[in-house]
Amino acid sequence: MTATAEGTTPIVIRTPAGQVAARMAAVADAVAGPAAVSVDAEARFPSETIEALAAEGLLSALVPAEFGGAGATLAEVSQGLVSLGKRCASSAMVLAMHHIQVACLVRHGRTDTLRDFLRELVDDQLLLASATTEVGTGGDVGSSVCALVVEVDGFRVEKQAPVISYASNADAILVTTRRSADSPASDQVLVLCRPPGLELEQVGEWNTLGFRGTCSTGFFLRATGPLGAVLDDPYGEISRETMLPFAHLVWSSLWLGIATDAVDQARRFVQAEARKKPGTLPPAALRLAEVTSVLQQFTDMVRSAVARFEEFQDDPDRLTSVGFGVGMNSLKVSASTLVVDVVRECMLICGLASYRLDSPFSLGRHLRDAMGASLMVNNDRILAHNAQMLLAQRSE
Ligand SMILES: Cc1cc2nc3c(=O)[nH]c(=O)nc-3n(C[C@H](O)[C@H](O)[C@H](O)COP(=O)(O)OP(=O)(O)OC[C@H]3O[C@@H](n4cnc5c(N)ncnc54)[C@H](O)[C@@H]3O)c2cc1C
Repeated sequence: MTATAEGTTPIVIRTPAGQVAARMAAVADAVAGPAAVSVDAEARFPSETIEALAAEGLLSALVPAEFGGAGATLAEVSQGLVSLGKRCASSAMVLAMHHIQVACLVRHGRTDTLRDFLRELVDDQLLLASATTEVGTGGDVGSSVCALVVEVDGFRVEKQAPVISYASNADAILVTTRRSADSPASDQVLVLCRPPGLELEQVGEWNTLGFRGTCSTGFFLRATGPLGAVLDDPYGEISRETMLPFAHLVWSSLWLGIATDAVDQARRFVQAEARKKPGTLPPAALRLAEVTSVLQQFTDMVRSAVARFEEFQDDPDRLTSVGFGVGMNSLKVSASTLVVDVVRECMLICGLASYRLDSPFSLGRHLRDAMGASLMVNNDRILAHNAQMLLAQRSE
């Protein structure tokens, strides 16, 4: 973030690795939580939260120390996203999407231009967005219609993007495109597009059921830039080794945050009921015990998937194995399903108090946000990929 909403340049504190999750949790409680209702109601970008995260150097949490970042682990960031997801799922989604792009740059961008950009991202706490979805290919992000045009002094690209989250607030956008006009749809590259070479023409509005603060409007994107802004590895490789697993891990973390907060709320409700009739077990207490065990499974599933990625992250053979791919896809499908199941169970526990929008036990926003999880790259699409991969999988 080059400037705050008030137009002042923020002072960046460099939160060190090891404290990243705790500082994210502190921002979640102090800033994101109090702003969540207005972010949702007005479908506005959670600028105060992103500024607070930037002020603590948390937009570069995943940038290695050699470029000035915290060099935090994915486990720390995942834990922080659970905390942020509990307070404001839109803020957590913005940060999660930013971290996916940072991970792609760190792991697949080796040109001087991209390395210099990483240092700049650390110094100025730049926010990254992503344009993978395209008119004509929809959620099939492994195909592009648009194509990179290579000119004497750089590249040019034009993309009709039906959804780019927080594009108007981002400092740069990573865009998928065909390698050239002669390339097949699946021969893609990922290119960093930024002002002054980036022009965005907004198409439509973002008035949705949930994740309203992500401001994921459509844009006609036109960009020019140096060839060094094109990431070195083919997009297929970036997607398999980093973007897809990372997306499923960070999204699942924040969906776990939504579910955790719903269960916290249900527990407070049951405790309040118990206080009204001391010595008796409220009828919903059993259901609370049941949903708590589901939440425990959800938590363990996310933690073990994060640990698996961290174990495999420097081994391309394991990252591209069928077993790993199927596992990460399954995580996304399971987590996006579980978040809805858990919130629905908590609504049964809290009853009308959760259905009301003006009650301290309201779960309306939790439910609306949770419903978006299975659509962010449609679960049916992911299951279809898994079905294909499973046909080729051998016993391990
Ligand atoms: C909160 C939010 C933020 C987002 N932010 C971004 C962003 O910043 N950048 C970005 O690029 N995108 C973003 N997206 C878009 C997202 O990544 C998906 O690409 C998009 O949600 C897919 O939209 P769709 O359902 O219209 O398309 P599709 O996934 O194409 O689905 C359309 C229809 O096709 C059906 N279908 C199911 N399986 C298949 C299959 N195997 N083949 C064909 N069709 C199938 C589905 O049931 C569905 O009805 C965001 C989405 C959300 C919800």
